[in-house]
Amino acid sequence: MRFQGDLQIEQRRLVSLVREWLNEEKKRGHFTVIAIEEKRTIQIGGLVLNARLDRVDELEDGQHIVIDYKTRKQSVQTMLGERPDEPQLPLYLVMTEAQQQAAGVAFAAVKRGEMGFVAIMRDPDLLPGVKAFSQLNACKQFSSWEDLIATWRQYLTSLAEGFCNGDARVNPKNFPATCENCDMQLFCRIHERIGERSVEQDDENG
Ligand code: SF4
Repeated sequence: MRFQGDLQIEQRRLVSLVREWLNEEKKRGHFTVIAIEEKRTIQIGGLVLNARLDRVDELEDGQHIVIDYKTRKQSVQTMLGERPDEPQLPLYLVMTEAQQQAAGVAFAAVKRGEMGFVAIMRDPDLLPGVKAFSQLNACKQFSSWEDLIATWRQYLTSLAEGFCNGDARVNPKNFPATCENCDMQLFCRIHERIGERSVEQDDENG
């Protein structure tokens, strides 16, 4: 009986979550979902990757938006830089034929109180509240959409080539934050520096 009760609570929670999400979708103009959970093979710099796209939408003018569902709000910054935390959407965009039709890439945050899209889009207002990439601080270094695509391709190819060439330097992206949840701390000489830094800081403060 208890199991049945838990199931009903979970069912109500999910229905409420989906309703809240659909209210976000209702704010959009006309679109058609043309792919869900689509598997793709992506080749980059000698590396062959199996990717799975959560969703692709087609807008009325034929442009596509590639969407990745998230359980919390992400920043567009996670798709940018030489070592992006979230490379999948840019990778798909720059290494497939999707590039010609792409209006942009978007995270869909499905979390109570944080529902909405965070996206890098070629043009404004294709998703509710989402500006064009050229209006985003995080993208101000790009002179055009083509420049953004070319930079993504360059960074992602460089990462893939580094991987293929055995580049295994211990080089955490955000030291010491990157190390905080790492299982290798015990064996890692870089992680030891966190302790050294706090001793130095104590000495300076003391
Ligand atoms: S603890 Fe070492 S291996 Fe782990 S993230 Fe930090 S530097 Fe990398």
